[in-house]
Parts: sequence; C-alpha cells; structure tokens
Amino acid sequence: MEIIAGVDIGNATTEVAIAKKDEMKIEFMGSSLYKTTGLKGTEENIEGIKKAILLLLEKLNLKLENLDLIRINEATPVIGDVSMETITETIITESTMIGHNPDTPGGCGIGLGITIDIDDLQNLLENDEENYIVIANGNKNFLEIAKILNFSRNRGIKVMGAILQKDDGVLVNNRLLVKIPIVDEVQLIEKIPLGVKCCIEVASKGRVIEKISNPYGIATVFNLNSEETKKVVPLSKALIGNRSGVVIKTPQGDVKEKIIPAGNLYIKTNKSLESVGIQEGAEKIMKKISFLDVEDIFGEDGTNVGGMLKNVKNTMHKFTGENIDDIKIKDLLAVDTFVPQKIKGGLAGEFMCENAVGLAVMVGTEKNQMNHLANMIKNELGVNVEVGGVEADMAIKGALTTPGTGKPLAIIDIGAGSTDACSIDKYGRRSHIHLAGAGNMVTLLIQKELGIEDFNLAEDIKKYPLAKVESFFNIRYEDGTVEFFNEPLSTDIFAKNVLVKNGELVPIDIKISLEKIRQIRRESKRKVFVTNSKRALRKISLTKDIRDFEFVIIVGGSALDFEVPEMITESLSKYGIVAGCGNIRGVEGPRNAVATGLVLGDEEC
Ligand code: ADP
Ligand code: MG
Repeated sequence: MEIIAGVDIGNATTEVAIAKKDEMKIEFMGSSLYKTTGLKGTEENIEGIKKAILLLLEKLNLKLENLDLIRINEATPVIGDVSMETITETIITESTMIGHNPDTPGGCGIGLGITIDIDDLQNLLENDEENYIVIANGNKNFLEIAKILNFSRNRGIKVMGAILQKDDGVLVNNRLLVKIPIVDEVQLIEKIPLGVKCCIEVASKGRVIEKISNPYGIATVFNLNSEETKKVVPLSKALIGNRSGVVIKTPQGDVKEKIIPAGNLYIKTNKSLESVGIQEGAEKIMKKISFLDVEDIFGEDGTNVGGMLKNVKNTMHKFTGENIDDIKIKDLLAVDTFVPQKIKGGLAGEFMCENAVGLAVMVGTEKNQMNHLANMIKNELGVNVEVGGVEADMAIKGALTTPGTGKPLAIIDIGAGSTDACSIDKYGRRSHIHLAGAGNMVTLLIQKELGIEDFNLAEDIKKYPLAKVESFFNIRYEDGTVEFFNEPLSTDIFAKNVLVKNGELVPIDIKISLEKIRQIRRESKRKVFVTNSKRALRKISLTKDIRDFEFVIIVGGSALDFEVPEMITESLSKYGIVAGCGNIRGVEGPRNAVATGLVLGDEEC
C-alpha cells in the first residue's frame, strides 16, 4: 500500500489529488487546490505545489513522510495573453453633437431653434419670430439664468431649450415660468457655434432620447437628403442610450467613422507566409487561421499587435531561457468587440462604442523542464517525484471517472489562459490540442466593453449573477426572481445593481443597465467558450468533423461557471453530441481531472 499524490500545475491553479493505492485498488482520499505560483512549468511553481500538498495532507491528518510518491504532469510551458485593438474612430468636424447622461438634466422633450448666447437675448426685439436655444456658460448662476429666461419669455421671445455649462439644469428649470428641455454639464460650451440650427432632446426619467438617436430623426429635423443622412449615422449611434443630447449640424460639418489600421498579422506555415489586417475583423482573421497549419504567428513591427506578440515571446524566453527564435505562437483567437472611446470633437466628453478586436494568443515551447522541476520538488519536500504522462492523456483518464461516460470521448479543459482539448476514439486513438483564449479572455472582454478599470470587478461580473436592489427589503435577480430580507439592506447599495457573491451583495458602480451588463457578459462567454469548444472539437477530430464525438466532457475552472456548461451543451446538442460538465470521480465536479488521471497513472482506460 502506498500513498500517492497527483499534482496538476495549471496556468492559474495547481490541483492535487491524493490516494491510497495497492495492486488491487485505488482509494482516493481527497483533493486540494492553490493558485499557481509563477509561469506554468517553471521553478517558481514549487511554492504553490508545496502549499497545495501540505493543505491536503493536513486535512487528511497525514505528514509529508507518509507520502510515497508525487506525480506531476508533463506540462510544457504555455502562456496565453490577451489584448485589445480599437479599429474605428468617430470624428466630428465642424458639426457639433453633445450626448451624455448628466445626472440632472432639466425638463424634458425636444427643442429646436437657433443657438444664441444668453447675453444676446436682450438685443432681440419683442416678439421676435425666431425660435432660440440659449447657451449659458458658467459665469452666471441658476438664479440669474432663470431670471433672464423668464424675462425674455415675457417679452415674447421664443426660447425652446437651453444648454448650460454648470450642473444646474434642474435648479434653472424649477424656476422657469414655462418649462423647456435643458442639457447641462457641457464642459466645452464655448465651442458651440452661435446662430446655427440646433436640436436638443431630454428624455423623461427612466427613458432615453429617441428622436436624435435615430438618423431619420436627425434627417427630419435638419432636412437632410439621403447622402447627408448616411453621414450622421455614427452620430445618432453615439447618442443611443443617452438621457439627453444636442445635435448641431452645420453645412460644412461631418461626422465620420474612420477605420484605424491596427497592423497586420503574419501567419507562417511550412509552405507560405500569409497575412491579414487586424482591422478586417475577427471573422476574417479566424477564417484565415482555421485553414492553415500554423507554425508561428507574428505581428507587423511598430504596431500594437506586433508589440504584443513580441512581448509574449519575450516573457516565455525570460522564464524558460529558451532561444527566442524557438518560441512560437501556435494559436490565436480573435473576437469582435466594442470598447467605449472618447469621440474626437465631442463637447461633453462623449463616448462612443468603437469597434475593436480582442486577441488571445498562445505560445508554447518544446523545451521540457519537468524533469528538472521534479528534482527540485524532490529536494524541497524529500518525497519521490516522477513526471507522469502527457497532460492530455491524464485528463482523459481523469475525465473518464465521471459517471456515465464512455468512449469515443472528447474533453474540453477550459482554464484561464488556454482551452485544452483531447480525445480518444473507439479504437483508442488519441489526439490533443491547446487553443488560445479561455477565462481570462472573457474577463478582459467584459472589462473593456463595460469600460471598467478593475480586472477583479470584471472577474466577479463574469462569475456571479446580477440583481437590482429594489427596496430596503428586497432584490430582484436578473432572471426576475425576487428575494426578501428581514433586516433592511445597507443604504450603500440602495437602488443599485449588485452582484450576488456568495450571499454578499456587491454594488457595481457603473452607469450601465443591468440588462446591458448581462448581455455583455453572456456574449463575451459565447464568443470565447462556444467558439473555442467548436474549434477544439474540429481540430482533435481525425476526420475534422465535430460529429465524431458522442460524449464531450467540459472540465477546468471555467466549467464552474454558472452559465457556461449550459451554453456549450446547447450549442453542441445541434450536432447530436451529449455534452456536459465533468464530475470527476463522481465528487469533484469539473475540477481535478488531470490530478486524478496522474494518480491513476498506468491504469488502462
Ligand atoms: P488552469 O487550468 O489554466 O490553471 P483553471 O482550470 O484553474 O485554470 O481555471 C481558471 C479560470 O476559471 C479562470 O479564468 C477563472 O476566472 C475561472 N473560474 C474559476 N472559478 C469560476 C467560477 N465559479 N465561475 C466562472 N469562472 C470561474
Ligand atoms: Mg488546467
């Protein structure tokens, strides 16, 4: 009887399984995990390995001396990295648009007129024919502004709306004899041209503007022909979802959506060198890559992509000491996305969701340092260490302990940096692949699309369901269900969107609706996990057909996701495949497949 530990060093997590083993049987005693320290496959991993093993031994009331053997996975170092390239830019020339969500716009409705400085109102004759939109800079306070507007109104001047620099739209509006729509908090108010036609729209509470966020609405207001209407499309797009907006269209003015060249990707195969521009979008890039037998990928010098790809190789070189020319980028996942960017020429710091391409790459080295690592662990812990078989084979062995599975089988291991897949067909033939893009890529997409700075908040948005705090005593989950509380909830989260994180309510302080956050979260997962699952199955199938597999087991940290297994299962069910989350040894859920496989070791599967 010996006690043996299987240790799976992943990019993100080091997982351990410990079992008692004799000729007749294997009895698993427990499992543990710890954050991987350093780059997978390098010396720095030892700290994490030690922590994970000691943690479990303690739980089992065992000591290091009781351990007869540690088996580690033969992990070739693989790193994934993700980056984002913006490929469109909205520029406003001459014309002006303001679209933003001031906290306190005044009044509501649409106002149309000629822009006029508030000081010039006094120069107009009584009962002037024209309609006016008044511009007031920060020099006057709300009392003065309201007084002038009321006075003008009494003189028969038709003031249809106002644009203010300061944050006092409501204060002005409360004092007006006749209410008008008011947009406030416009920082660059001096840039608004005077004497030109202007349309301002303020939505009532809880609504968003409708007229000027629609290109035909703008066309109606400004009498545009079809050519001109096309040009204001980016502008109306930028106004969608805002509570207030202003459009000033001057005859020379234009709004353009410009494509920014983001650099080329070069894909080297054994026969040729192909290239594709990042700005052509994810679909074209992925199409190109899917038909090629990729040997290496690099980017155009002097561009962001070029820099990113070089950086990944450098990191690998630094950690492994391998010659940089021998380090190859083996796979890349491109995803179309949107990132909020400041509009060039906007007056109130407007943002527009510009098109962007997210990239995840995967770099591997042939150099196997596991024997070296095994020796280091042995010296450190004083326990025999051997390098188990290929990680993919171990994953198959581990995954097959999921009740109800059988061959032919494919396993998709979705971790943080890579999606690893392996398969065994009915004749026992095996195949495996590492693909770029997994959990980290999803978190990055969520982070960028929501425009949040904190990666950890994006990670939480990925992992936990959303809810809205409706009152001090209840929240409504994103699926519509309601939970009541006996004690009043904190005022800090009142009326906010929150994440329900293990019973704790964590506020999300961004001005984006719950529905939109949910949509971005789900789309990001679909773009990475569903795409990569299909890509992986196609690649490991000997006939390049997804339908080869009867059973697909999803394992790894990302399989713990509350909506991912269902998404993948649904997308594969179309091909008649039974897919589902693994349940290693019937107890572990989707974790611990490789560690379990390592303990089983030489057992035939
Ligand atoms: P690796 O095998 O590369 O070490 P893991 O299998 O530990 O990686 O998976 C890590 C990934 O799993 C991370 O992207 C993390 O965000 C994700 N993850 C972990 N727990 C959850 C969860 N409960 N819901 C969604 N994703 C999760
Ligand atoms: Mg793993």
